[in-house]
Amino acid sequence: MAKIRVLNPVVEMNGDEMTRIIWQMIKDKLILPFLDIDLRYFDLGIKHRDDTEDKVTIDAAQAIKELGIGVKCATITPNAARVKEYGLKQQWKSPNGTIRSILDGTVFRKPIIIRNIPPAVKAWKKPIIIGRHAYGDIYKNVELVLDRPGTAEIVFTPADGSGKKTVSIHEFKGPGVVMGMHNTEKSIRSFAKACINYALGEKTDLWFGAKDTISKQYHGFFRDVFAEEIGFAQDKLASAGINYRYMLIDDAVAQVIKSPGGMLWACMNYDGDVMSDMVATGFGSLGLMTSVLVSPDGKYEFEAAHGTVMRHYYEHLKGNPTSTNSIASIFAWTGAIAKRGELDATPDVVAFARKLEEVVISTVEGGVMTKDLMLIAEPAVKTFARTEEFIAAVAEKLKTAM
Ligand code: NAP
Ligand code: MG
Repeated sequence: MAKIRVLNPVVEMNGDEMTRIIWQMIKDKLILPFLDIDLRYFDLGIKHRDDTEDKVTIDAAQAIKELGIGVKCATITPNAARVKEYGLKQQWKSPNGTIRSILDGTVFRKPIIIRNIPPAVKAWKKPIIIGRHAYGDIYKNVELVLDRPGTAEIVFTPADGSGKKTVSIHEFKGPGVVMGMHNTEKSIRSFAKACINYALGEKTDLWFGAKDTISKQYHGFFRDVFAEEIGFAQDKLASAGINYRYMLIDDAVAQVIKSPGGMLWACMNYDGDVMSDMVATGFGSLGLMTSVLVSPDGKYEFEAAHGTVMRHYYEHLKGNPTSTNSIASIFAWTGAIAKRGELDATPDVVAFARKLEEVVISTVEGGVMTKDLMLIAEPAVKTFARTEEFIAAVAEKLKTAM
């Protein structure tokens, strides 16, 4: 069988632990036998990040900027325990955080719906996509623990030297803690634009929630910029039959749980972080949640929403069998390949990616699945596939399908 040629390169970022093991299997069994593809490889494994003083992460992000498409394996964000475990020079920053701040952009998380894996939330029938603003707020904050009484203030010094502004945060009578955070109009505007474009592409309603009753200026600013962008796109949204709703964030949570799904839920950075794990778990498994970072200038980075599945990796290191779900990692590859094909105008490349996705879903619907899915499958299945068995089953089916 001749391999399908992918015209332009894709940036590949390897990662850590169990997902690194899965990554290699996916490449060897599901991608490279079928595609003639130029992968620009960056090893974001913790050891190599440490060796390069994290320069490799910045290089990878720059390569995505240049080439347009990247696919990334989950990576360790080191904490103190990891520094000890891997003998690191320091607690390197989250690679995802670094990539997000270089590309700016919005993270969209979409669950993979499989017929025999019913969501834990019974009302949900259609995907709930989370659009997470990926810049600023607490992720770019500054904080201070205060060990004695004193005054904390916000001071703004205009670059043009005009009227300085000072606001008192609190008069501390004793020890306490303060935090300063920010966002920019430019980033909020591109967040709103990205959500509108994504909703138009997916033909799905668009919801946005914030807490503007409490944070009248900060959250109110988000609400207003978002509403303005909706106004600019009104005709397009109306002709696509897309409704926009603004809600208080707590109301949005209640509405989402009661709804049948089928909307893009735009979230501020922290809300998106928390709510995407809630939605992923509600749909069945973290192993079924895909994630894509879309930059304002149309660059894409695809990955699974889950982490490196450390507990399974430790079992693997002990020589014990594992049953780690590879579906979200496979869909990171298919997402990147399909988008590459779309941008290159090569329908055969897009078709390959869609075929691989169909095969994965039909494998699970045929009763072959990892343990996380076996526990919730309906009708019930009696056995689960090991990590490598699931990928082998998909590879077998894919060969036949091609
Ligand atoms: P995790 O890797 O997402 O795993 C948490 C638990 O969720 C697992 O122990 C497992 O539960 C279940 N799980 C997640 N993905 C699964 C899959 N594909 N198949 C089966 N079960 C799955 O989160 P973590 O253990 O908190 O974090 C581990 C490392 O990942 C950390 O170093 C963190 O920094 C990193 N991380 C990276 C990213 C990223 O690169 N995007 C995102 C999040 C976390 P059971 O053990 O109960 O089976
Ligand atoms: Mg999170």
